[in-house]
Amino acid sequence: MSGLHGGPVVIVGGGVIGMALAYHLTRHGYREVTVVERGRVGEGATARATGGIRQQFTAAVNARLVRRSVDFFSAFAEHTGAPLTFRQHGYLFLLSDQAQLAAFRDAVAMQNQWDIPSRMLRPDEITEVFPQVRTGDLAGASYCPTDGSASPTDATAGLFRAARAGGATVYEQRTATGLRRDRAGQVTGVETDAGALPAEAVVLAPGPWAAELGARVGVPLPVTPHRRQAFAIAPARWLHPSLPFTVDLSTGSYLHPEGAGGVIGGNDRATPPGTDTTVDWQLVESLAAALSHRIPPMADAQVVRGWAGLREMSPDDLALVGPIPHLPGLWVAVGFSGHGFMQAPAVGECLAAQLLGEPSPVDLTPLRPDRFDGSPVTAEAVRF
Ligand SMILES: Cc1cc2nc3c(=O)[nH]c(=O)nc-3n(C[C@H](O)[C@H](O)[C@H](O)COP(=O)(O)OP(=O)(O)OC[C@H]3O[C@@H](n4cnc5c(N)ncnc54)[C@H](O)[C@@H]3O)c2cc1C
Repeated sequence: MSGLHGGPVVIVGGGVIGMALAYHLTRHGYREVTVVERGRVGEGATARATGGIRQQFTAAVNARLVRRSVDFFSAFAEHTGAPLTFRQHGYLFLLSDQAQLAAFRDAVAMQNQWDIPSRMLRPDEITEVFPQVRTGDLAGASYCPTDGSASPTDATAGLFRAARAGGATVYEQRTATGLRRDRAGQVTGVETDAGALPAEAVVLAPGPWAAELGARVGVPLPVTPHRRQAFAIAPARWLHPSLPFTVDLSTGSYLHPEGAGGVIGGNDRATPPGTDTTVDWQLVESLAAALSHRIPPMADAQVVRGWAGLREMSPDDLALVGPIPHLPGLWVAVGFSGHGFMQAPAVGECLAAQLLGEPSPVDLTPLRPDRFDGSPVTAEAVRF
């Protein structure tokens, strides 16, 4: 495996993905690392994320990446020198029918093979982990006690500081506008609005703006931005931060207990592509109705704040991570489909290994960026 030859690596995008990669490269002792961020570090999708970290996925690559990230989040201060509160309150998926149950049972079996302690719950066992859930019309649930949540902003700030301490240069308020290539087609640098930066390798990590930047540099990236919103609810006596992050799969709605209150959202998966991040308050009513059917005390929940950000959806809900074969020197880490925060530590580690020509701790083949070239995408029946 041949890797970098000591030349500069330029990472475009200073979100949690770009910062995790910069951190892991410097951790390997690689100091020729520059991050170009057009705004402020962490102000993109990362700033809007609610911080959920779950290992319960149908795709093994997703489960494995988050399993590895959980170890990193658990020892964040040891790795970065910065504090991070990682709360392992678990994730609970509430399942309404036999098809969901079968898909989750298969997924739990796969997750258990990768050392993820998820398990299926019968309806009568659900109230042991979340007493307020109405279970009469549920088929069951899946639950993983080591899933949890952390602040994406705190994590990105910690990675940023550690990357800089390791020798990385971070330019804020600087926009990448194009690529430089030599006659053989090898990428040799990045054009920016403040001059060119030479590079042996360029990694695009522009979050929801992947297609926009891809078009600029001549690489079509099948990533579409979709608005995703979340609402904070006021403290309530029955809500407790130790309750699991709970997803009602049939409606997509979730409750994430946090502090003495919580965050709700998740019923906007059908939002068409676009970059509008205006909060649609009409969605609160159907969200509250879905959640109060499932968790009756939610009927009295008081919504105190709403915000929206962009999720970066790929055609099959899996990220695109790795080299672009026809443009030597160009790499991407995009299309995380709403799971970029929880995957960031492991993605940064695996991509750094690939760049340096070392074996990746998790096989990233399922995420190869050229997998859509000429092939139709088939979505799984139940993917989560
Ligand atoms: C409401 C909401 C809730 C979410 N909840 C979760 C969750 O619970 N768990 C989870 O794992 N994920 C969650 N996500 C998804 C998560 O936010 C993203 O997957 C993750 O933040 C992606 O990180 P990133 O670094 O790729 O993108 P970003 O954070 O968007 O960073 C990309 C950066 O690139 C910069 N950039 C773009 N173009 C250029 C250019 N030309 N030149 C220079 N810089 C450029 C942007 O300014 C931006 O700062 C949520 C998203 C939303 C909107």
